[in-house]
Amino acid sequence: MKLPPDVTAANFAAAVKRFQSVVGPEWVFVSDEGVNLYRDAYTPFRGEPDEYIPSGGIGPNSVEQVQEIVRIANEFKIPLWPVSTGRNLGYGGAAPRMTGTMVLDLKQINRVLEVNDSLAYAIVEPGVSYFDFYRHLQDNHHKLWLDCPDPGWGSVIGNALEHGNGHTPYQDHFDFHCGMELVLANGELMRTGMGALPNSPSWGTFKYGFGPHISPMFSQSNFGIVTKMGIWLMPEPEAVKNYLVAVPAKTDLVPFVDTLANLMARGITDTNWAIGSPILTSQNPKIAALVASGAPTEELERAGRDANLGYWGTRLRFYGPPEIIDAQWKYAWEHLSAAIPGATFKLAASFTFPMDRDSIEEPPDDVFGKTALGIPSLSIFSLGGTTRRDGHIFFSPIIPMSGREMAKAQVIFPQAFKDLGMKPPELVGGWSWFKRNLVLLMPMTISKDPAENKKMRENYRSLIKIAAANGWGEYRTATAFMDHVMDQLSFNNHALRRYHETIKDAVDPNGILAPGKSGIWPKRYRESHT
Ligand SMILES: Cc1cc2nc3c(=O)[nH]c(=O)nc-3n(C[C@H](O)[C@H](O)[C@H](O)COP(=O)(O)OP(=O)(O)OC[C@H]3O[C@@H](n4cnc5c(N)ncnc54)[C@H](O)[C@@H]3O)c2cc1C
Repeated sequence: MKLPPDVTAANFAAAVKRFQSVVGPEWVFVSDEGVNLYRDAYTPFRGEPDEYIPSGGIGPNSVEQVQEIVRIANEFKIPLWPVSTGRNLGYGGAAPRMTGTMVLDLKQINRVLEVNDSLAYAIVEPGVSYFDFYRHLQDNHHKLWLDCPDPGWGSVIGNALEHGNGHTPYQDHFDFHCGMELVLANGELMRTGMGALPNSPSWGTFKYGFGPHISPMFSQSNFGIVTKMGIWLMPEPEAVKNYLVAVPAKTDLVPFVDTLANLMARGITDTNWAIGSPILTSQNPKIAALVASGAPTEELERAGRDANLGYWGTRLRFYGPPEIIDAQWKYAWEHLSAAIPGATFKLAASFTFPMDRDSIEEPPDDVFGKTALGIPSLSIFSLGGTTRRDGHIFFSPIIPMSGREMAKAQVIFPQAFKDLGMKPPELVGGWSWFKRNLVLLMPMTISKDPAENKKMRENYRSLIKIAAANGWGEYRTATAFMDHVMDQLSFNNHALRRYHETIKDAVDPNGILAPGKSGIWPKRYRESHT
């Protein structure tokens, strides 16, 4: 049993009794078996004493129970780590940042409270997973689509709070949330946006409310527990078309990214595209051997031309009426062709709706295909095969959506990987989830060998510093690296972190909520952890 810091076994036992009186004994998990469910399956501390292990888990089934739990936690100084469905794999799973914190598991609070068809929004509770939500929309014949992240078993609220992302025009999940209900650290209930106006019909439509817009303060933070959230949905489009674009030369990367960025800034494209390299990642044995041998660029480009593979490529998806898609595609095609001689274009898939969505098969060449049609899936776990068998952690810095920055990243990170003794990535992919930016995603594998994990952690910390030296920060990170990422945001003697701490101390003086989340430590643990 891992007790919270500064809490005696007797006090912990007394708190558990009180928690049990609120949720019932069967919903407080303190046995090893129960606690194990909340450990991070992808922990970078596997088999080491430093793994962040919770003292237990509590599963309330109502907002009132959450409030009561928070009041008791204050009384006994028991820290709580709220999770919605707790499937945050790659970023810490359900486990807390600080050993001994109890996981507040909101999975049972899982109703879809409202779906508004004409205004295309819904209000949901934390335990609503993408699978649940999809089924609810289908069963009730709502002609609305949700945007899913690749794993469909996570929650709409937890994913949005983490600044998660998907594939359709609604891919930036936090951007498409509207209004929250929260249990604050003192147990009080608060609504943000127009939710603060009793019975307002605008809670799910007008984010800003009146006065300071504070909902964003509760994302990636430890200032409150979100118990309801509004989320905007996409009216079912008439069509979805999916095109492949490829460009032949290594030096095309700069105009390729710049043109795609311009198309996005104009609103011609608004979905997730990712820069890949058909040559560098080719499964064709001859080309793969050339890549592995370190063949010169011209040779690779020539092999690419012969095999009809671009040096760089992407997939552009469009959603809406076919005639509008055709006009958008024509514009995109013309601009890309003008900017990059030899660019090639191909229609990869085309769907028209309404159609029986249950009949849609996972497209063989596109692991994101079903998800991009608003259908939750778990097929992403087929990627990576055995190399990620024991788990992985994402290193995910964000760069401006600029060809120059992207080209620079292709030099900086492979070199950094080499210098750190790791196999450099063939290419550093960039994802357009957040307008005007690219997220670079570099998975680092977890091993069963603690020595390898230790080396990986050192490397990850070095990468954070190398990225920061180039002005690139992470958009999200695993619990193990939250302090290191926050450390880099040092403008004016860490004014931002000091401001976070000021808020934390004011709203949560006992340091009950998620100590250490995003590098924000409450006064009570600050000295021992920073
Ligand atoms: C192979 C693979 C692919 C992935 N692909 C994607 C992807 O495409 N897009 C993407 O976004 N992610 C992706 N992820 C990361 C992750 O799995 C998902 O983001 C997942 O949805 C997060 O889990 P969850 O929704 O259960 O969130 P939770 O685990 O419930 O929550 C995440 C964190 O948010 C906070 N939180 C959650 N709920 C509350 C609340 N009610 N109040 C206050 N704080 C709260 C807590 O700090 C919690 O730890 C991927 C992971 C893997 C392994």
